[in-house]
Amino acid sequence: MNLTENIKKIRSGIEAAARAAGRDPAEITLLAATKTQSSQAIRAAVAAGITVCGENRVQELTAHLADNAYQGAQVHFIGHLQTNKVKYVVGRVELIHSISSDKLLLAVAERAGQLDLVQDILLEVNLAGEASKSGFSPEEAPAAARRCAGLPSVRLRGLMCIPPAAGHPGENLPHFQKLRQLAVDIRSEMMDNGMDMDVLSMGMSGDYADAVMAGSTCIRVGSALFGPRPPMSPIPHDEREISI
Ligand SMILES: *Cc1c(COP(=O)(O)O)cnc(C)c1O
Repeated sequence: MNLTENIKKIRSGIEAAARAAGRDPAEITLLAATKTQSSQAIRAAVAAGITVCGENRVQELTAHLADNAYQGAQVHFIGHLQTNKVKYVVGRVELIHSISSDKLLLAVAERAGQLDLVQDILLEVNLAGEASKSGFSPEEAPAAARRCAGLPSVRLRGLMCIPPAAGHPGENLPHFQKLRQLAVDIRSEMMDNGMDMDVLSMGMSGDYADAVMAGSTCIRVGSALFGPRPPMSPIPHDEREISI
């Protein structure tokens, strides 16, 4: 596994897709999805030119922050976030990609208010209505965006999605196009509220070229960067949320 080679390969993939779509490749951020990676691997990625890291798990985020592993890069939160864990994330990351419910939105806003800061966020949209995934439905997203406009301690920066794993190139293109259109629609409404949504977080190792074609500004890449991951351990019991 050669990080420098992998980054080069991904960047040229971004460039080709951007060019094909008539876009400037500089508009697209390559976020390193660092789940299961060691602090040492994260440091190596930053040294090799990664400018944004994305964490899935609060526990890993906390450990890597304590280790100063992200020094020289931004850190974002991209995974499922339980409301009882927001205190470990709000104010510690530049952007939370995964605001997936009203309950979480309000918990993040409350925590940011306590800390007297403004937390940048994205709304996660569950495009395909997958039961296994969290997120607002495309129909719910505009109302959630309006709610953000009324919360001074959060700044809505855009939308994020995790579509089903693509079996072949082009398979997720319709999902990405749908998210992009949803962002355009919400954005025109939000501009009147003084919010400028400029982030579209979509595309992973298997489908980032399609995401870039459809307008992604942030692709989240793990395995194409670091190599295949061991399967993730199930979420520890104390991180599960009891729904009532
Ligand atoms: C793991 C993960 C990624 C990266 O997945 P790869 O297929 O390894 O590129 C992107 N986004 C989220 C939310 C993830 O959990």
